[in-house]
Amino acid sequence: MFEYAPAPESRSVVDLKPSYGLFVDGDFVDPSDGGSFKSINPASEEVLAEVAEAGSADVDRAVRAARTAYERVWGPMPGRDRAKYLFRIARIIQERSRELAVLESLDNGKPIKESRDVDLPLVAAHFFYYAGWADKLEHAGFGRRPTSQHSGAAPQPLGVAAQVIPWNFPLLMLAWKIAPALAAGNTVVLKPAETTPLTALLFAEICQQADLPPGVVNIVTGAGDTGRALVEHPGVDKVAFTGSTEVGKAIARAVAGTRKKLTLELGGKAANIVFDDAPVDQAVEGIVNGIFFNQGHVCCAGSRLLVQESVADVVLDSLKRRMARLRVGDPLDKNTDIGAINSAAQLAKIRELSEVGAAEGAERWSPPCELPERGFWFAPTVFTGVTQAHRIAREEIFGPVLSVLTFRTPAEAVEKANNTPYGLSAGIWTDKGSRILWMADRLRAGVVWANTFNKFDPTSPFGGYKESGYGREGGRHGLEAYLNV
Ligand code: NAD
Repeated sequence: MFEYAPAPESRSVVDLKPSYGLFVDGDFVDPSDGGSFKSINPASEEVLAEVAEAGSADVDRAVRAARTAYERVWGPMPGRDRAKYLFRIARIIQERSRELAVLESLDNGKPIKESRDVDLPLVAAHFFYYAGWADKLEHAGFGRRPTSQHSGAAPQPLGVAAQVIPWNFPLLMLAWKIAPALAAGNTVVLKPAETTPLTALLFAEICQQADLPPGVVNIVTGAGDTGRALVEHPGVDKVAFTGSTEVGKAIARAVAGTRKKLTLELGGKAANIVFDDAPVDQAVEGIVNGIFFNQGHVCCAGSRLLVQESVADVVLDSLKRRMARLRVGDPLDKNTDIGAINSAAQLAKIRELSEVGAAEGAERWSPPCELPERGFWFAPTVFTGVTQAHRIAREEIFGPVLSVLTFRTPAEAVEKANNTPYGLSAGIWTDKGSRILWMADRLRAGVVWANTFNKFDPTSPFGGYKESGYGREGGRHGLEAYLNV
């Protein structure tokens, strides 16, 4: 039978340069000591480009440029003018979305259907959404002009924001950080992750194309040392970090005792809870989306399936049949469901925890799956017979690996779901509205999805409880993180 198979998305839409400088004060510049690193396509291990490594002198230059732009141009600029720049950036992102999506898939390894249909539309949506806020800050409860001689409040930007982001959603994490910061009148120095710097550098080109005043956005590339130099720089007023809990704690210690405001978006180990009255097919789609979307490189991934004992066999049989239909392979192929693991280091971590799961006695299952020879790949995997004592039930794997536990009563589901140091998200699958409300009240998680999973929206706040961090991104709460009132 004839099967429609669209051609792979062409990488020729991307005009890759052999090397990239740092984006400081509106221009691409060489790093002061000439250091660089390679950005690699995780699906083929080919070198995509040589990227400048910023040292502390470069970070200092970027922070100074951001300070000058804040004091002379962006801070004093009326909100309606800041909005015009943000709307312009949002429109250019839409116009260049194909190029951005292909580059994101090349650098990160994620399937093109996700970068094209999820990441890029959300990136543009965040810029549009926060553009709309820029001229309304004083009218929306953030503060008001004095109504009498004695009272009044006014929202004011914080100044220079240092922003450090991870590799799992390179452009979307950039949008979550830069859009609200700029709308609120701050300037930024952003450091992308060392394995996925390229779309941030293309975004820098978009800032030039939008005629954004020099110094409002600065991009410094490099690894942890660059990030440390940035968050510890005394000229920074605000630090926003998304990444691992371990690095988040180090940053919290470094920032303690300074004047800097801090928000942290860290790791997770979310429970996706399926009750016996949930439609099985719908729940299975939600389980698959919860853990295999973006190769499981998702802070809020539904990495622990809690399924009610009475339906566990039915749900697991159906889940395995669905997993057998997932296509692992070329991220640029429009039929691919699971792309490449982002780096050799991440693949090693996933393999190690998977081995630990098997060694500790949980039962491992993957569908038959031919993985390409070159590149970093991991087949979708499910562990059954998992208990709370297993490391795979407690530690973030950050890969396409699901741990399955069972429960009998809603109270037991809550107890197991909350039995983790993390608290980023949770999912509930049930036909009972009252049960959703009862559960949501008791789950210690910043986001609770009901009969869906991994849904994001610029109008909704996102963030964690406990060791998943503090502060919120998205919605008006995302603006509060960048304002003094
Ligand atoms: P990571 O903490 O290793 O790195 C994140 C960023 O911090 C990178 O840019 C890195 O170069 C930089 N960095 C490393 N050491 C630093 C230091 N000492 N000071 C300053 N910066 C430093 O995390 P990762 O492996 O890139 O990302 C995966 C983690 O991110 C997972 O734990 C995941 O759950 C988390 N994450 C959280 C969210 C959220 O919204 N809560 C979103 C995405 C990812």
